[in-house]
Amino acid sequence: MFGLTIIEVWFLFILLWLTVCFLSFGVTGIYFLFMRRTAKRPWKILVDRQYAPRISIIIPTKNESQIIRQKLLNIDRIEYPKDKIQLIVVDSKSNDNTLTIVERFAEQHPYLNLLTLSLDQEGKSKALNFALRNSIGDVIIISDADCFWSQKIMQEALPYLSDPSVGAVSGPKILMNPNSTWVTKTENAYLVSMNTTKLGESKLGFTTLFEGGFSAYKRAMLPSFDPYGTGSDDCGSLIKLAENGHKAVFLPEAAFFTAFPTSWKGKMQIKIRRANQLVLVFSTYLNLLLRGKVRVPKGTLILNTFIYLVSPLAFALFVPLTMLILVSHPYLMVLVLLFIIPRIGPLLFEVIQSYSVLLVGLSSAFLGKKFITWSQPADRIILTESLLRQNNLI
Ligand code: GDP
Ligand code: MN
Repeated sequence: MFGLTIIEVWFLFILLWLTVCFLSFGVTGIYFLFMRRTAKRPWKILVDRQYAPRISIIIPTKNESQIIRQKLLNIDRIEYPKDKIQLIVVDSKSNDNTLTIVERFAEQHPYLNLLTLSLDQEGKSKALNFALRNSIGDVIIISDADCFWSQKIMQEALPYLSDPSVGAVSGPKILMNPNSTWVTKTENAYLVSMNTTKLGESKLGFTTLFEGGFSAYKRAMLPSFDPYGTGSDDCGSLIKLAENGHKAVFLPEAAFFTAFPTSWKGKMQIKIRRANQLVLVFSTYLNLLLRGKVRVPKGTLILNTFIYLVSPLAFALFVPLTMLILVSHPYLMVLVLLFIIPRIGPLLFEVIQSYSVLLVGLSSAFLGKKFITWSQPADRIILTESLLRQNNLI
């Protein structure tokens, strides 16, 4: 072929395969190892343990009658001066009795400054922006209905916001059903490694990934939620902070507790929605990076953009090339054994799954399809009153 010997063709083929391997798995792996080291560095943030700002806690709801009372009970227990807390439940078109439950709770707990808002439109970010306009806190905290806090979360998290350069803080998602099924097991492996990465990035000053279970923003540094319409209220809202040079950090001690769907279908529903959002988030970062509009450390941002937008494409090439190799050298099938190595296996599986899901996200973003509409994950049913009580969350 083209005057090349069979050996030369194989050589070029293997070279291509190795390049594709590097672009998909290599970059991610090296980045992870580097961040794991960075995670051990000390903080360069002033932490004033006395810092106790007025806070507005916003809970967005859509048909959360199954869990909302437990969520409010959990918030009622946090150790923070009640006169410094404004609690807002912002509901969009629930057609169960979520609002009735919230109103009854407010009557039973008159000492809580609880505001109930109801919106006639769909969309979590829209609801959060509506609540933001009605909030009075200096710090705005978002928490999904299915996420539960330890009593000391404010003492742990808020002091980091006393540093003028810090705009937002968040914490790790802890699964309360990590060993239920292989789905929750692999998700847990993924979460643990992501948390290390997020901590490493935070030590450098900025992590792009926040979560809905606990994210706290300084009001003055948060013009609105998801201004670029990425569909992600957490990661999408951080983009403005990156533009303005405000730090966004992940704090291991600000953990929140939730459950994860036990079925693969339930997982895919969440992951595909999330991938779609993240593709839009990192396309926005790419655009800003190219226009020189980012004022936080660019290295981690560039690598994240690469990992979310380019690595999945390299993975799309990796699959057919690997198939070709396996077909011609069947004995290499022994590599499948990598999947049964205890710590490596689940993570490898998870990475492959993530790339596949990101490819779906990329194609739907490319086809101009905006974020996939929200449907309630099947985790509420797991978060029973007794489980929450056992874990001292209510
Ligand atoms: P996930 O963790 O991102 O998969 O999403 P969850 O369903 O666990 O959390 C999303 C939170 O936003 C829940 O508290 C939902 O009730 C709430 N939510 C979702 N969509 C809407 C919406 O359109 N309006 C309002 N107000 N809340 C919403
Ligand atoms: Mn959730």
